[in-house]
Amino acid sequence: MTLDSLSRDQLEAFLAEQQQAYTALQQAGLKLDITRGKPSAAQLDLSQDLLTAPLTDHLSDGVDVRNYGGGTGLTELRSIFAELLGVPVEQLVAGNNASLSMMHDSIVFALLHGTPESPTPWRDGPIKFLCPSPGYDRHFAICVHLGIEMIPVAMLDDGPDMAAVREHVTDPAVKGIWLVPTYANPTGAVVSQEVAAELAALQTAAPDFRIMWDNAYAVHDLTDEHAKPVDILGLCASAGHPERALVFASTSKITLAGSGVSFLAGSPANIAWYLSHTAFRTIGPDKVNQLRHARFLGSPQGVLDLMARHREILRPKFDTVLRLLSERLGPHGVATWTEPRGGYFVSLDVVDGTASRVVQLAKEAGISLTPAGASFPYGKDPRDRNIRIAPSFPPLDELTQAMEGLTTCVLLAAAEKALAA
Ligand code: PMP
Repeated sequence: MTLDSLSRDQLEAFLAEQQQAYTALQQAGLKLDITRGKPSAAQLDLSQDLLTAPLTDHLSDGVDVRNYGGGTGLTELRSIFAELLGVPVEQLVAGNNASLSMMHDSIVFALLHGTPESPTPWRDGPIKFLCPSPGYDRHFAICVHLGIEMIPVAMLDDGPDMAAVREHVTDPAVKGIWLVPTYANPTGAVVSQEVAAELAALQTAAPDFRIMWDNAYAVHDLTDEHAKPVDILGLCASAGHPERALVFASTSKITLAGSGVSFLAGSPANIAWYLSHTAFRTIGPDKVNQLRHARFLGSPQGVLDLMARHREILRPKFDTVLRLLSERLGPHGVATWTEPRGGYFVSLDVVDGTASRVVQLAKEAGISLTPAGASFPYGKDPRDRNIRIAPSFPPLDELTQAMEGLTTCVLLAAAEKALAA
C-alpha cells in the first residue's frame, strides 16, 4: 500500500514499525560506506599486471619513455583511446593520472589567459557556468573554488533541459556548461545525438562558450549494449563552432583509479592552446605509465574486454541495489530511482524535503552516504530529495546491508513527514 493511501491510524502503525526497524538497525553497530564511486579492490585486482608485468623495452614509436618531453603523450596509447572516444588521434592529448586536473587547468588557463577565441581573459568579467543537475559534485567544486557562478539547469534523460540552456546562453557571462555525456554522474543519463547537435549549433552570446564534455564513463557499460560516443568535436566543427567542446576522459575506472592516464581532446587550436600553457607546468607527462597502459590494454578491444570483466563484478551490485529499492520502497510509493545502463551510480529521489533527514538517520546508524544535495550546485537540492548511491566499492554483503538500512531510513523519514503534514 502506498503511504498516501493509508489512514492516520495505519500511518501511525507504519511509523512505529519503521521506528522499531530503525532501532534494530542502530543496534547492529554497522560501519558501512556507499559515498563515493570508487572501484572495489576486486576491480583494481583486474589491473594488477600493471604493477607486476615488466616493461621489456622503453621505446614507443622511437620515443624513449624514460626521458623528459612528449607533451602530447604516447601515440601508442592515444591511438587506442582515440578510437574508443571517437576523436582524431592527433587531437587527443594523454596526460597524467587525473582528468579532473585537466578540467581544472583548462578553466584556470581560460581565466588567466582566455581561450583561442576569447576577446579578453575570462577573469576580466563575471563568469557563469551552466550546471545540469543533479550532476558531478567535483565539477561544481571547481566552479566554487575558481569563483565561477553556477546556474543549475535540469538534467533530463537525454541531456540538459535545452529550453533553459537556450535562455541562459543569451547572457555573455555564461561561458560554459558541464556535461557527463555517457552514463552521467549520478543519473546515468546519456546525452542524445539530437541534444548534442543542438548544443554544438547553439547561438551563444559568449563567443568563447565551452562544453566541458566529461566522458568519464565512455566505456563503462553495465549491459551488453555499448553506448557509442557522440562525435561532439565533429558536430561543433560542422556547426561553425570548432573550438566549443573540450572532451575529457581517463582510465581511472578502467585500470587504477589513482594511477591511470587522463585524456583531453579538442580542436587543433584548442590542443595547441592547452599545450602552450601546460608547457610551463611540466616537461612532459609520465610516459612510463602511459606505455605500461598501452601494453597492458593492447587495443580498443582490449579495453572493452577489461570493461566486460568490471561489468561481471559491478552488475550484481547494481542488481542488488535496484532489487532492494524495488522490493522495499516500491510498494510504498515513497521514492523513484534511475536504472542506469552504465556508469557508477544510482540516483534516488525520496519524498521531497526528506533527503537530509534520510542521510542523517543513515549516518546515525553507521551508514555513510554522500551528503544530501551534493549533486547540486552549492550543495543545495531545491527539493531536498536526491541521494546518490555508489554501489561499486563495498563487497556485496556490505552493500546489501547498507541498502537494507538505507531503505529503512527512507521509509522512516517518509512516515514522519506524512504524519507531520
Ligand atoms: N568525471 C566524472 C563524471 C567522475 O565521476 C569522476 C570520478 N568520480 C571523474 C571525472 C574523475 O576522473 P579522474 O580520476 O580522471 O580525475
